[in-house]
Amino acid sequence: MSVYRAEYIWIDGTKPTQKLRSKTKIVPSGEKPPVWAFDGSSTQQATGDRSDCVLQPVFQCPDPIRGGDDKLVLCEVMLVSGDPHPSNTRRANAEMATRFGSFDTWFGIEQEYTFFEGARPLGFPESGGFPAPQGGYYCGVGADEVFGRDVVEAHLDACLKAGLKISGINAEVMPGQWEFQVGPLNAPEIGDQLWVARWLLYRVGEDYGVSATLYPKPVRGDWNGAGAHTNFSTNAMRENYDACVAAAEALGKRHDLHIANYGFGIEERLTGLHETCSYKEFRYGVSDRGASVRIPWQVARDRKGYIEDRRPNANADPYVTTRLIIETVCGAADASRSHGASPARAAKRSGASRRSAA
Ligand code: ADP
Ligand code: MN
Ligand code: MN
Ligand code: MN
Repeated sequence: MSVYRAEYIWIDGTKPTQKLRSKTKIVPSGEKPPVWAFDGSSTQQATGDRSDCVLQPVFQCPDPIRGGDDKLVLCEVMLVSGDPHPSNTRRANAEMATRFGSFDTWFGIEQEYTFFEGARPLGFPESGGFPAPQGGYYCGVGADEVFGRDVVEAHLDACLKAGLKISGINAEVMPGQWEFQVGPLNAPEIGDQLWVARWLLYRVGEDYGVSATLYPKPVRGDWNGAGAHTNFSTNAMRENYDACVAAAEALGKRHDLHIANYGFGIEERLTGLHETCSYKEFRYGVSDRGASVRIPWQVARDRKGYIEDRRPNANADPYVTTRLIIETVCGAADASRSHGASPARAAKRSGASRRSAA
């Protein structure tokens, strides 16, 4: 009987930052990966006496590591009752995306990360101490400035073979720090693809003896932190600049809520230095990399496009960040349309008004 290997990947219950886990199932060729289970008492998702948690496949792609017919299978974690597990953030994301489906939100996430070899970032001197100060590393070239390119290229290759929508890669400001971008994609697909791309990053790193980390501030002091800038647009923003500005304004009204959900350790990273705005304030501006939200210059020129939320940490959960952005931006747009528009248009949009108008 011919078979294929399905690598079931899921997000665990580790606090304060959830981790990826995976295990392999052998599946008969031609059959879909079935619902499966795991020991939740070993992943902070259950107690030993009621240890079973359920793996519900939600996204799959070719496995670029094993090749052939083998697959990567991303799963939602469910309780045996059939309800989503409390650690499952994807379900709420998918529900929010459906609720505001008419906005057709697109997301492009810039995932920054840092390679470590043992206790020090790749490229930091083995003897201890620090490399030359930042300045030449960002998008650099040469053995004195760039560390880990072979791993980065292998990861890019793996993502492309898996069919993930990667839009680019670059070396970052701190040595050993890199970025890949995923998108633009709708939710929850953006979260699915980013989590699988993270899994591939860790997995490819194994082959090179380096670990990729998503620590938001891997080295204290005058070294850049690692973020997950989240670019997004609604159909209105892709047509009209006022909608881009309105989205930035809406984000400013719920700043604290977003900060609290944009990844553990965000206060260490959003200091106001190193191309960040302090977590204590909210600002947006054209081309401003010291703002919380940047409107790219081409967007200001074209009078349409997208905006960049620069606040999420590298270790943020994209299911959480994109759910909040949809709720904040689309919720505000809905509210202003039903208040600001003509009574007839407002009535069209709201079931209650439609009933009273009828
Ligand atoms: P930066 O200049 O901040 O480094 P990047 O080029 O790294 O920007 O990333 C920009 C991201 O924005 C990419 O992931 C891209 O797919 C995404 N993007 C482009 N257009 C849109 C759009 N209309 N809506 C949402 N995301 C978009
Ligand atoms: Mn970038
Ligand atoms: Mn970057
Ligand atoms: Mn950016």
